[in-house]
Amino acid sequence: MIEELRQLCLRRAIFFPESEIYGGFAGFYNYGPIGLKIKENFIRAWRKVFVEPDNIYEVETSLIQPKKVFEASGHLESFSDPIVQCKKCHSIHRADHLIEETLHIHVEGKSLDELQDIIYNNNIKCPKCRGELGQVRHFNLMFQTYVGPEGKEEAYLRPETAQGIFVAFRRLVSSLNPKLPFGIAQIGRSFRNEISPRHFLVRLRQFTQLEIEYFVHPKRKKIPNFNKWKNQELRILTREAQLKNEDVIVIKAKDAVKEGLIPHQALAYFMAKEMWFYKKLGIPEEALRFRHMLPEETPHYSKGNFDLEIKFDFGWKEVVGNAYRASYDLEKHTKHSGVELFVEENGKKIIPHVIEPSFGVERSLYAVLLYALQDDGRGWKWLKLPGFLAPYQVAIFPLVKDRKQIQTAKKIEKKLKKFNISCYYEDRQSIGKRYAKADEIGVRYCITVDEQTLKDKTITVRDRDTKEQERIEISKLKSYLSKKLETI
Ligand code: AMP
Repeated sequence: MIEELRQLCLRRAIFFPESEIYGGFAGFYNYGPIGLKIKENFIRAWRKVFVEPDNIYEVETSLIQPKKVFEASGHLESFSDPIVQCKKCHSIHRADHLIEETLHIHVEGKSLDELQDIIYNNNIKCPKCRGELGQVRHFNLMFQTYVGPEGKEEAYLRPETAQGIFVAFRRLVSSLNPKLPFGIAQIGRSFRNEISPRHFLVRLRQFTQLEIEYFVHPKRKKIPNFNKWKNQELRILTREAQLKNEDVIVIKAKDAVKEGLIPHQALAYFMAKEMWFYKKLGIPEEALRFRHMLPEETPHYSKGNFDLEIKFDFGWKEVVGNAYRASYDLEKHTKHSGVELFVEENGKKIIPHVIEPSFGVERSLYAVLLYALQDDGRGWKWLKLPGFLAPYQVAIFPLVKDRKQIQTAKKIEKKLKKFNISCYYEDRQSIGKRYAKADEIGVRYCITVDEQTLKDKTITVRDRDTKEQERIEISKLKSYLSKKLETI
């Protein structure tokens, strides 16, 4: 499946490798016009579900940040993966992945020494040349750079958008004067020098994150809009289930909080919305689960991490990280900058706790495309994207290149655009080929103007999913589409 999807993405320039003419640039992908539209629609939907309903403010901070930020956040010291180098061919491998792939065991959170012992005791060799492997060591994933002509100031490309929010906290609080609970969201690129980029859009060196830092009073356990989502069912892979190799449990958000499985309402709130959101995007329920991170995978300051994982063609993978980071980040930056980071409530200084859902756009889109890809024998593969995500909701074709048909089709295009229905006009190639191309990129409806249109002002509307065509009056087109197009 993945190869077919890759081919489709390349053929239609949805995504394509950076510097392709120079042989590519591992871990860096570009969006073409169709991909960009899908990405924009995804972000719009995300904002509508996760930002707009709550007291959440969106910001855009710098991609490059000074070294001090990452000294404080701990990234400089510990944002690393274990690597091991072959003594013979000198190729470098991620030690934990190599072990997991060879022995099929879980080793996240193990120390360098432990990984070294496993490699030695199980006689694991270089996967490339079967040579002997050297010492396991840390490799920091941040891209380093130097700022200014003298190159004296050491800086880093941000590995997550979150730190930009924490270091701007004082400015934002003093200008917005927000009441707890409130959130600060950020959409933007992050960079990680991954050891082995792979699985197409899944492990990249440059990717887009959608992050929310949701600040709550450290002692208050309730948030305003939880009731709307309390009955949403969550599929959770508990810690016990992971140890016993059992399946997920299905539990309502409110019960997961009541039973203490999820340590805060706000965490359950975001998880409930995520479950709903990804189903709306077309991911089947059984391909979604929240994995409660094991103690050895959870940072010491965290009160609980739940990864939303999706079942990909190669296995389960995190798509959204949910973490209850408590006051760790604000305290660290307070200590390192000497500037107190707090909010004031009734004259009292409060260091809020933070709950962070962190979404990856490219991983999400890969999952969406994977499940959207259809092959039902119509002669071409096609994308069953929900209307709100489709790059175009409508395509408009004159059946043949007749002057009057062209004129009418262009008029319809203009009218629909006025109503904010995304559409494009096309008159090249046979109508069959135009339908095929529209299906391939997931266009929801195709409208065809033909000879009859000129007589009775009706057009045909072809439904991408059923291939069925309905003849309707042009004057009723807008209300017809408004009823049919899926929204979020
Ligand atoms: P993390 O901070 O590692 O929990 O990452 C948060 C989210 O960012 C993940 O759930 C992914 O969706 C996304 N992400 C992290 N690393 C990568 C990567 N190398 N390539 C693509 N997406 C990533």
